Amino acid sequence: MTTHQITAVERLMVIDGKDVGSAVDEWFERESPAHDVVVGRYPQARAADVDNAVRAARRAFDEGPWPRMSGAERAQLLYRVAELIRRDAEQLARTEVLESGKPISQARDEIEGSAGLWEYAATLARHSYGDAHNQLGEDVLALVVQEPVGVVGVITPWNFPLLIASQKLPFALAVGCTAVVKPSELTPGTTVHLTRLLLEAGIPEGVVNTVTGAGETGSALTSHPGIDLISFTGSTAVGRLVARTAGEQLKRVELELGGKNPQIVLPDADLDAALDAIVFGIYFNAGECCNSGSRVLVHRVIAEELQTAVVERSRQVPVGDPLDETTKVGAIVNQQQLDTIERYVGEGNADGAQLLLGGDRLSLPTGTGRFYQPTVFTGVTPEMSIAREEIFGPVLSLIAFDDLDDAIRIANSTMYGLSAGIWTRNIDAALTAARGIRAGTVWVNRWMDGYPELPFGGYGASGLGRELGRQALTAFTETKTIQLQVGPRTARWLPEEA
Ligand code: NDP
Repeated sequence: MTTHQITAVERLMVIDGKDVGSAVDEWFERESPAHDVVVGRYPQARAADVDNAVRAARRAFDEGPWPRMSGAERAQLLYRVAELIRRDAEQLARTEVLESGKPISQARDEIEGSAGLWEYAATLARHSYGDAHNQLGEDVLALVVQEPVGVVGVITPWNFPLLIASQKLPFALAVGCTAVVKPSELTPGTTVHLTRLLLEAGIPEGVVNTVTGAGETGSALTSHPGIDLISFTGSTAVGRLVARTAGEQLKRVELELGGKNPQIVLPDADLDAALDAIVFGIYFNAGECCNSGSRVLVHRVIAEELQTAVVERSRQVPVGDPLDETTKVGAIVNQQQLDTIERYVGEGNADGAQLLLGGDRLSLPTGTGRFYQPTVFTGVTPEMSIAREEIFGPVLSLIAFDDLDDAIRIANSTMYGLSAGIWTRNIDAALTAARGIRAGTVWVNRWMDGYPELPFGGYGASGLGRELGRQALTAFTETKTIQLQVGPRTARWLPEEA
């Protein structure tokens, strides 16, 4: 039996600085996926609520002080948000655990990581520059300036709720955008909490508005004419829908989508380090992670040794109540996701892959929640669905290769291109893979580390655009060219009148 006290929290939406319910007074509830008890109650936003939120963000952008402040003033407020996130860290971490099922120790790291993102974005608020052109001729000086793109619609997923909101929002705010945020209906708690912290920090009313809901909220936001840019993280399937709507309306769009990320292991690798990264890569966040290292491509000469060791390490992974400090893998987010995992495991078996470990649900002594066993398949070939498609669960596919060219070819054989890694002591092999793999991030002898300074995003079906780093500002700014005449207009189109 869990000894943790769990209570439900009711949270209203935040529109134009005020706590509001939905116009039709409908609500939805979120149950803890580990404990099967209601932990959150939220208004179900309809199109009218989204409209109110977009209008508030529009007013804040078109008439309010936010885009007109200096970068230094905005930076101060973003730093203050980071302080407030740290002040409320334990409460935020607990909300993440109860709504997403992730382990408390990991949730604490994510809250700290989120505060770090607000701090980094604060530095960028003072570093959004353009260009000056002084070599165009005697009579012209030109300025290329960056302006905020306008009102940003932010749609975030359930796997890293506060962290992904913090990969988008502070960067948009740094350059003077305003926003409407729509968190996943499975994990809205920390985003609503964050929106209140922004007001407490002194960010003006209407600059960030948060709507909660499911079924139509995301599409109402994407298709709203008052939105200038949609920044979406989630599945490739929904990313395509978002891009289609944005295309029809010629809105800006920025997408972080799925991945089927390979870790390549060469025979000369530090196998102990690689093993730790392999189990971390696949079981971190129960595999519900766009960066999950869900394919391990292993050189045939060490394939057997590696698979034995991977199974051994996988058996040691503590799966359990996410509120327990020792748990490393918590609950699967909902029944739909559990069904998806089971379907893929079934396909792996049917396709002839060899199940070495797991392949089934896991019951805790409490009898509550949805958990899945660490699962390892070997004998996987690149055309199997478990080698090509994003499972979003603790299911690892081991794929053997013959040489580095073969490994790079297999690495590039899915529609995705989010991230990849290689384990080797050979610098030439490492660089050849880093250049040859079409992915937004390549790790060499490390896995899944991220830094606010480093751009993140995908090739192919993994997305459009980049988040983080100074490149993040590109998505949130428009470029304007200003030409200035210096002295009298000499280049006449019609001859001067006598
Ligand atoms: P989805 O990626 O499918 O996204 C659901 C979100 O998108 C909700 O907020 C929903 O809001 C919104 N949405 C749905 N349709 C539209 C639309 N036409 N326009 C705009 N927004 C829309 O997440 P799921 O939870 O359904 O997860 C399914 C799969 O997605 C997972 O199995 C996993 O493979 C992948 N995934 C990937 C993530 C990543 O980090 N890359 C994160 C989470 C999931 P509403 O219903 O209100 O419209």
